[in-house]
Amino acid sequence: MSDEQRATSDGRRPAEFPPGVARPGPVLSRRDFVRLLGASAALAGVYGCSRRPDELILPYVHQPPELTPGVPQYYATAMTLDGLATGLLVESHDGRPTKVEGNPDHPASLGAAGVHEQASVLQLYDPHRSRHVRHGAQQADWDAVARLLAPVALGQRVGARGEGLRLLLEPTASPLTVALLARVRERWPAAGVHVHAPFAAPDDGDALLPLPDLTRADVVLALDADFLASGPFHLRWAHDWAVRRGAGGGPSRLYVVESGFTPTGATADHRLAVRPGELETVAAALLAGVRAARGVTSAPTAPTTADEATTAWLRAAARDLAAAAGRCVVVAGPRQSATVRLLARALNAELGNEGRTMWYVRSPLLGAGDASVGSLADLAAARDVDTLLVLGGNPVYDAPADVDVAGLLRRVPNTVHLGLYEDETARACAWHVPALHYLERWGDARAYDGTASLVQPLVAPLFGGHCADELLALVAGEATPRAHDLLQTHWRGRAGDRASGFDAFWREALRRGVIADSAAPRAASAPVPAVVPPPAAPPRAAAGTLEVVLAPCPKVHDGRFADNAWLQELPEPMTTLTWGNAAQLSPATAARLGVESGDELALGAGGRTVRVPAIVVPGVADGVAVLHAGYGRDGAEETARGVGVRAQGLFPRAARYALAGVTVARTGAHHELALTQPHWRLHGREPVRVVAPGQPVAREDAAGGTRRRALPLYERQPGAPHQWAMTIDLDRCTGCGACMVACQAENNVPVVGPEGVRDGREMHWLRIDRYYADAATDAAAAAPAGPLSVAQPMLCQHCEDAPCEYVCPVEATVHSSDGLNEMVYNRCVGTRFCSNNCPYKVRRFNWFDYNRDLGDVEALQRNPDVTVRERGVMEKCTFCVQRIREAEIRASVEGRTLGPNEVTTACAQACPTRAIVFGSLTGAGSEVARLREDPRAYAVLDELGTEPRVRYLARVRNANPALAASRAPSASEAAT
Ligand code: SF4
Ligand code: SF4
Repeated sequence: MSDEQRATSDGRRPAEFPPGVARPGPVLSRRDFVRLLGASAALAGVYGCSRRPDELILPYVHQPPELTPGVPQYYATAMTLDGLATGLLVESHDGRPTKVEGNPDHPASLGAAGVHEQASVLQLYDPHRSRHVRHGAQQADWDAVARLLAPVALGQRVGARGEGLRLLLEPTASPLTVALLARVRERWPAAGVHVHAPFAAPDDGDALLPLPDLTRADVVLALDADFLASGPFHLRWAHDWAVRRGAGGGPSRLYVVESGFTPTGATADHRLAVRPGELETVAAALLAGVRAARGVTSAPTAPTTADEATTAWLRAAARDLAAAAGRCVVVAGPRQSATVRLLARALNAELGNEGRTMWYVRSPLLGAGDASVGSLADLAAARDVDTLLVLGGNPVYDAPADVDVAGLLRRVPNTVHLGLYEDETARACAWHVPALHYLERWGDARAYDGTASLVQPLVAPLFGGHCADELLALVAGEATPRAHDLLQTHWRGRAGDRASGFDAFWREALRRGVIADSAAPRAASAPVPAVVPPPAAPPRAAAGTLEVVLAPCPKVHDGRFADNAWLQELPEPMTTLTWGNAAQLSPATAARLGVESGDELALGAGGRTVRVPAIVVPGVADGVAVLHAGYGRDGAEETARGVGVRAQGLFPRAARYALAGVTVARTGAHHELALTQPHWRLHGREPVRVVAPGQPVAREDAAGGTRRRALPLYERQPGAPHQWAMTIDLDRCTGCGACMVACQAENNVPVVGPEGVRDGREMHWLRIDRYYADAATDAAAAAPAGPLSVAQPMLCQHCEDAPCEYVCPVEATVHSSDGLNEMVYNRCVGTRFCSNNCPYKVRRFNWFDYNRDLGDVEALQRNPDVTVRERGVMEKCTFCVQRIREAEIRASVEGRTLGPNEVTTACAQACPTRAIVFGSLTGAGSEVARLREDPRAYAVLDELGTEPRVRYLARVRNANPALAASRAPSASEAAT
């Protein structure tokens, strides 16, 4: 639906701003502020506890070792998600971590950091973290836990061989943890070890992980794999995909088959929306099509499925893959059935990709291919358990619906939970031990490809706490259950034979954040059974039922980040929904059910019902509802509690990620969803451009178009040596949102809560607009491909002839000689004329003092180089001016000229695909100057003559000629 179509019935255009934005009155009570932002008098004094760890920590390899007050230092460490590590560099201001960046030396990061890594620094200071050991309702201490788990006492309860002892862990690839578990098993050979996480790597015993080399793949096929935007190695894959996409010889081509609509699907050149039950048939049809195209079999010359358009799509994709044999790659989603993953393997083998674009590594995760490690269901079925240690995770909340974890915890006399929060599982356990945040603890971790890193703390524990390794050491009867000592002892044994000695090894590993030569060996092939299991017949779509998909939320994942207000307020990439989840339905499915976005549905299966609002999303397969996990929390995390719906409650063990035959009914209730998509309208102009490979963007100027002349009200300032500018490549941007969270962390951007978002008061300086092609006007948007979609990061364009500057009565917004559109906060009187006159709608008015009730602990995260704004001022992107000025001063102190590519902004630094490039237009070798000359470069709303310093590079649609020609999406915004 276009803006014009949305015009009101009396013919007027809809307002530029959301209707609630100028409504008077506070949107959040003080109580809500306290709940969301976590102010707490009980935290007074923690500020003083922000000190470095007692042990020696070492700054990143390129940083000078000395400490200058006020000058931040960077330390390498690693964060794990679902057990696998991403290497990071963390900025520390006088002993307090404030900002997370990627570690350029780490294979899972290459210098980028995703939304979870960026937001993890806020989690460190979350005042809702638990802070006391608890036994029953009483406060206890670590010594009491040590007595409970001391070998003699433990042996009397669990038996001499540990028959009554069970350990439940999250997936882990920590060499130290794995070694400690081996020692626990030595001491207690009959003890059971179980692993659980709702969205970790496949749990069917397959020990091999696919490791595609996307830098060499001309054609990529993804089978329900959101490999560009989710999963522990996605930053690397997004980087590699972007490298090949921008390489000479033309862009690669991406095919995506999926049920929901993901950032990877939106990035595809061709996309096929299918029901989850059809995936196996589709994969088998593709294999048959490839074999036929290569003349390997006398199989039918075309894959066949029920519908003609889908068959034609599959035939074209199979032929394209076959034509690129050895230069293409097929990836399957980690939560797909074993059959789909085997079919992907067979496709790669058939296409000769193995050892060229596809490799395999042994999974570094504990339990992969190890039958002695049990599952959560095995544990729930266990009897005669005396002592159960739950070392991380929240199984009471996120276990499959038919696994009775709460019943298990009631049966076991001694239950000990280790976690950051008193969450649902902690509350069901007799004992709770606060866990250390990764920025507070020592440890180690392996990445997806096996590369090992040391985890070093940047700050002494804020609230006390312990880590899983210390508890395991207690159980194993170790003499010194201190993580630092355990870690050194472990690596001393492995690094002792290095010629340079252990100390040099230790220092190098801490400084670089990577242990050299520790990646797992790559295998060129993986066994494929001679006969791949036949695909299961797709379930029949019974009238009145849906197939429902459970997916990890791109923001709060499985719920572990649900207390993080930055992530709650981050718009979901495809729907722009904040603060909650909803059942995503295609427009056709919604029309069939007679529902609109916000209408509440009752989804039922197996005697269980979930009530959830609907949201209409172009691109979801018809007959499917997609639910994101991680909401409907009920623990002590006050920010998370009551936000959204607990989707996991619908899914049993046998259908953990997709459930067919789910009944659906409207309840009659309606919810106002906290969406950002309808805010900040651009009135039907064409802000995104899409071109074919090698095609330049249309130049209206050259065609004698309507571009206005620059407004000659003010004379340009004399130029400074550097002229700052940015380019954003829409062909590289996946819409993942890492840049948004990076900007929020760097620039002290506040959260406003769900009511604030509903009123259009979100404060993000950088937003990501999501454009969909309009099915009514675009043939390529029709099924089976689903709509074309483009994500466009939108921030202050730093116009040279800035419309905001002319209208400010107090000159609070002015132009700098190096090209920045500046805000002078203490001049701003809040007329908001500038915001009205900004055609890009990127200015944010600080309606309330969002920082007034900031707790002492949360205040520790704030960047001291950036003003924390009070109410009543206009805010917007500054091009991270603090970074520019810091670099200028550093160059001046060093007596040299600042180079054009030396400064980067927070958003550009976080971006895994390097879609955002920042720098100076002056100076030899300027990258941003080179990109501005690209034939794909254009200025948004160029016709207004604003001369923006931000230029976009058009999205490329590398269409397969055998499929319907694609055309550019119109500027219409989502129907949501
Ligand atoms: Fe993600 Fe932003 Fe980069 Fe786009 S520009 S890929 S949204 S980090
Ligand atoms: Fe935010 Fe800096 Fe990027 Fe501007 S340049 S959007 S202030 S991170």
